[in-house]
Amino acid sequence: MKEDVRFIYEQVDKHHEWFSKSIPMIASENIISPLAREMLISDFHDRYAEGAPGERYYQGNIYVDEVEIRTEKLAKKLFDADYADVRPISGTVANMAVLMAFGGPDKKITSVDVSSGAHISSAPFGAVGLRGMSPITYPFNVDDMNLDVDGTRKMILEEKPDIALFGQSVFLFPTPLKELEDVFQEVGCHVWYDGAHVLGLIAGGEFQDPLKEGVEVMTGSTHKTLPGPQHGMLLANPSSDEARDKLFWSVFPGVLSNHHLHAMAALGVSLAEHMDFGKEYAKQIIKNAKALGQALYERGFDVMCSHKGFTASHTIAMDVREYGGGETSVEAMEEANMIANKNLMPWDDVDSAQEPSGIRLGSQELTRLGMKESHMDEVAEFIKRVIIEDEDPKKVKQDVEEFREDFQGIHYCYKEGMPAHKRFKFLNK
Ligand SMILES: *Cc1c(COP(=O)(O)O)cnc(C)c1O
Repeated sequence: MKEDVRFIYEQVDKHHEWFSKSIPMIASENIISPLAREMLISDFHDRYAEGAPGERYYQGNIYVDEVEIRTEKLAKKLFDADYADVRPISGTVANMAVLMAFGGPDKKITSVDVSSGAHISSAPFGAVGLRGMSPITYPFNVDDMNLDVDGTRKMILEEKPDIALFGQSVFLFPTPLKELEDVFQEVGCHVWYDGAHVLGLIAGGEFQDPLKEGVEVMTGSTHKTLPGPQHGMLLANPSSDEARDKLFWSVFPGVLSNHHLHAMAALGVSLAEHMDFGKEYAKQIIKNAKALGQALYERGFDVMCSHKGFTASHTIAMDVREYGGGETSVEAMEEANMIANKNLMPWDDVDSAQEPSGIRLGSQELTRLGMKESHMDEVAEFIKRVIIEDEDPKKVKQDVEEFREDFQGIHYCYKEGMPAHKRFKFLNK
């Protein structure tokens, strides 16, 4: 092997080794199933398929078309949606498509504030800004880590947005959509829910069902609580044929050329698996998140929303200013093989994104590895040792590695298979 290739292989190998011995708690990540991972290295990766099945601009798509039709059908069924588009190549790209369809410099959009947990794509410096808009942000109730319903109702009635966007990246509790539904109707806006974080919980029937609560279009990443490939998805009950057409054409040729066919096939496999395992998986994710919140709270951490059971999703948020802030905390955790991210809290200024007050933890990947509530206690203890007791992370790391030995499989999928790190070694023998 050429030196550079060898170098890159080695880094990936080391990464695999490290992650197989770590506790992964980034709320936006997950592990794809062995069967879905097969799709990612298939020849689908090497092809182009612009447009829609049966109306392609390239030849060679006979089987690709079959996969796309089936994946779209699975998506509609799983989310009980009139319309699904499985082509967006990421959550942000799905968001750009909605913005292209319904937004524009002469349009008004309302959204959650980035500090209150919204994704950068709904910020003026992200995709919303790219479309020439700047969102008007909803009043947020920090104690409940959710929208202030009365304030939001009033604000939507006054502002009369063209698009009302909801959904967060720090998404602890369902958005009060039902409480806002009459206001949406009065204003007549497009209601858009960014479900990137919670798609897997929604599909498992364990969060809210936005499309039944007045939402016209729902976008999301397919690799967070939905344990699929790095990809995106758009689901909708379009308000008119015109809205449907706009959504369709804004994906291609709007924001995409090719749509990463290998990832689409992997998504199809993941959706099929989620049909069978999604409910059980989503239930356990939420149980684990609540248990992790409780276990950290009992150890003295300032976990948000103790009065509400900490969370109703996969995510918990903690204020760690007492221990030097978000960055200091996650760096110490990383040295002990616990992977998490620092996060803005509602009181932080967006400019402090490099040194925010909080950290965000997710239970979805731990659950996928087979952990249950009782294991959350052990995880919380490791975190406490590093952050509160200031123990040498290297010492904690040894215990983390030992703990992780019992969790090497991937659960909630058809075929237990080799995790990435073992498979990689096998292929390169
Ligand atoms: C993760 C996320 C996205 C999109 O992420 P991609 O990396 O582009 O898939 C969009 N919205 C929210 C709320 C997110 O958390």
